[in-house]
Amino acid sequence: MSLKSIILLSGGLDSVVALGAYKDEYGIELALTFDYGQKSVKYEIESSQKICKFYNIKHKVIKLDWLKEITNTALVSDSEIPVSSLGTNESAKQVWVPNRNGLFLNIAASFADSYNYNYIIFGANKDEGQTFPDNTETFREKISKVFESSTLVKPKVIAPLINFSKDDIVKIALEHNVPLELVWSCYNNTSKHCGVCESCVHLKNALRHNNADKYLDILFGE
Ligand SMILES: [Zn+2]
Repeated sequence: MSLKSIILLSGGLDSVVALGAYKDEYGIELALTFDYGQKSVKYEIESSQKICKFYNIKHKVIKLDWLKEITNTALVSDSEIPVSSLGTNESAKQVWVPNRNGLFLNIAASFADSYNYNYIIFGANKDEGQTFPDNTETFREKISKVFESSTLVKPKVIAPLINFSKDDIVKIALEHNVPLELVWSCYNNTSKHCGVCESCVHLKNALRHNNADKYLDILFGE
């Protein structure tokens, strides 16, 4: 039996590398990108579309208009995206979206149940697992367990990067020739990556640590 899988794709580093490095192993065929009114949504969708074209997989944008109404996260509200304070709980709280990964994975599980996807892939990583509970191995294991009862197809949730840091993930990207120039990791809606939000700072550091100056230039104009 051949494998087929669905992936959560934001267009950011982690989900793009999860796709690029594990597409063949898991037979990834469809990517879902979520529009919950986040500031960077236009860039996330554009980036995801280009990535899906590059890897020749199907792409679907799911709109979740109501999610914006029930959260004050800086990702969607009028308040400014906080400048990075490198993973403190305070700045993490400001960009927390209620039950985001739980919700997105459940939607992906409906697709899996309808279209027989064996796996649902998402880009949780080690660094964010220390700050966000929905990026941890415990969460992955538990939600995978839930789908054994909530679906007929029983898709397994896989987070292939969960034991890797951002530095490792950039290294994996370079090894697999992942088109990092197409990534959109920034929380803001500026035409280039802002370079100062939490997500940008982590990406910048990881690119520097891997001597990937070419991408610093393309993404941040540095
Ligand atoms: Zn940014």
